[in-house]
Amino acid sequence: MSTLAHELGHGYHNARLAQSEPLQRETPMTLAETASIFCETVVQNAALADATGPERLYVLETSLMGHAQVVVDIHSRFLFERAVFERREKGDLNPQEFGELMTWAQRETYGDALATLHPYMWAVKPHYYSLAFYNYPYTFGLLFGLGLYAQYVAAREAGTEAEFQTRYDELLASTGRADPLTLAARFGIDLHAPDFWEGSLDVIRRQIDVYVEAVG
Ligand SMILES: [Zn+2]
Repeated sequence: MSTLAHELGHGYHNARLAQSEPLQRETPMTLAETASIFCETVVQNAALADATGPERLYVLETSLMGHAQVVVDIHSRFLFERAVFERREKGDLNPQEFGELMTWAQRETYGDALATLHPYMWAVKPHYYSLAFYNYPYTFGLLFGLGLYAQYVAAREAGTEAEFQTRYDELLASTGRADPLTLAARFGIDLHAPDFWEGSLDVIRRQIDVYVEAVG
């Protein structure tokens, strides 16, 4: 159901973009997951409203594992690739140096929370080298989608859901025409303001609280 919701979100986004000219439809990676994350979150929260027992735990656990991967692990990947690009300007890196940078990035991110580090993570995925900074858009996309969801919930409570939807549709229709900072500003969101991102993380924090409560 989550995957179906996710892909239907992409479909909805494409349907909004269909109003634009072909050259204006190309969406940057940072905004490509906006509608899919939003739609997935709507469905997850609707499922949580009714689910009980093991079903409830399953929904929460699946969602939180994904969020931990995107918010926490991708941070280590970002630190790693930034360090690699900085070092690479000055010369080649050998496998041992890649391994050292990788474990450094994991320690920076996880502190002492990991029992073992993975020095060969840099060789496991092509994400680090196929495009410059291919990892952080996943974190950006998740938190941007969740931030919009937080605004949607607030609009629903304030009775301004219809107005939210108009602005949401406009945002999706214009993702190929301006950079995220400009588009978000049109939506009344300052991407440099910590408040917006805190709102996104609050959506995850609430899920953690519900999970802790559910497992007793
Ligand atoms: Zn997607």
